[in-house]
Amino acid sequence: QMFASQSIPTPAAPVAMETPKLSSKERKKIMITGGAGFVGSHLADKLMMEGHEVIILDNFFTGQKTNIDHWMSHPHFSLIVGDVVDPIHLEVDEIYHLACPASPPHYQFNPVKTIKTSTEGTMNMLGLAKRVGAKILLTSTSEIYGDPQVHPQKEDYWGNVNPMGPRSCYDEGKRVAETMMYAYKHSNNVDVRIARIFNTFGPRMHPNDGRVVSNFVIQSLQNKPITIYGEGEQTRSFQYVSDLVDGLHALMNGKYGAPVNLGNPQEFTVAEFATTIKEMTASKSEIKKLEKTADDPNKRKPDISLAKQELNWEPKVSVKEGLAKTIEYFRMVLLSTGEIIPT
Ligand code: NAD
Ligand code: UDP
Repeated sequence: QMFASQSIPTPAAPVAMETPKLSSKERKKIMITGGAGFVGSHLADKLMMEGHEVIILDNFFTGQKTNIDHWMSHPHFSLIVGDVVDPIHLEVDEIYHLACPASPPHYQFNPVKTIKTSTEGTMNMLGLAKRVGAKILLTSTSEIYGDPQVHPQKEDYWGNVNPMGPRSCYDEGKRVAETMMYAYKHSNNVDVRIARIFNTFGPRMHPNDGRVVSNFVIQSLQNKPITIYGEGEQTRSFQYVSDLVDGLHALMNGKYGAPVNLGNPQEFTVAEFATTIKEMTASKSEIKKLEKTADDPNKRKPDISLAKQELNWEPKVSVKEGLAKTIEYFRMVLLSTGEIIPT
């Protein structure tokens, strides 16, 4: 296994704390698929700290045990090591369905498996939701808009996706997952929620996941070349993970059932982003331009008016504030593995 076998310490993980005591009526049983990953583990923290019972289902393809270690002995927490592609029988009230590799190198590692995870995996989770009457939330993605011809992207844009390109196993997988959610809603009355998530960053991102934030921060901290794919004119809009977790929670607990963008509209070119990180880390790295990757979307920025209106949600953490926390996190990880030395 190329990715999962690496055990990376997560020094920023909170120490397991006492959680509120809810009555058995108030306490929900909540399953998070992919809950050992970057976003899922932060969501688990929030739900545990509310006093709920949390069950994580994860196959550890990109998840890390260190992300959830602090809950392992808590009586309200369970971990099931398993794959969403296999049917599972449980009793739960809510399902946050996150399981799916999210970074391009990870989802392209085994495209067929990525498709199975989004299709068979989502079908299994919908079957479970239907059987037990649970609410289910899918973490879809801004990638369903492909290389967008509309800017910024609103939920009513249908997208511009290459069905045969290197990104299609992920993009089309998520698109059909959305379709399945609505088919189960219409045919079986399943209560569904869909979050279309834009680029998110923060502590517990996998250091080797190849995404732009982890790459640029690690390269800067090690004074190695910062690798820009193409000219760096492509744009992305970056959201800090705590804002996303609040948005997912608001969506699940609200009544709005159609897709909602969750992202921070603060837009950067990749070149600007490289300079920002280089400056924030006081790095000596050179900036190196490499070949552009195939089908890389040229621009991406969410229109979040729907989330503001329906969920009363908007991001609170600025990109710079979030980057400062993320840089500190990766600094600790690299110090603990000896990949940088204290100055
Ligand atoms: P991640 O790779 O850190 O987490 C994904 C988790 O799912 C991992 O713990 C992994 O082991 C698990 N997983 C993968 N395949 C599985 C399978 N078949 N069965 C069980 N578990 C499986 O990624 P993340 O950034 O935390 O992303 C979480 C979700 O959010 C994903 O669905 C992703 O598509 C979506 N999303 C994330 C972003 C982002 O910028 N982070 C953007 C858009 C959408
Ligand atoms: N990127 C880059 N250098 C890197 C990693 C990524 O220039 O080392 C670019 C990539 O080509 C894309 C953007 O950064 O334009 C965001 O890439 P990422 O993989 O983080 O997420 P994506 O939005 O493409 O899914």
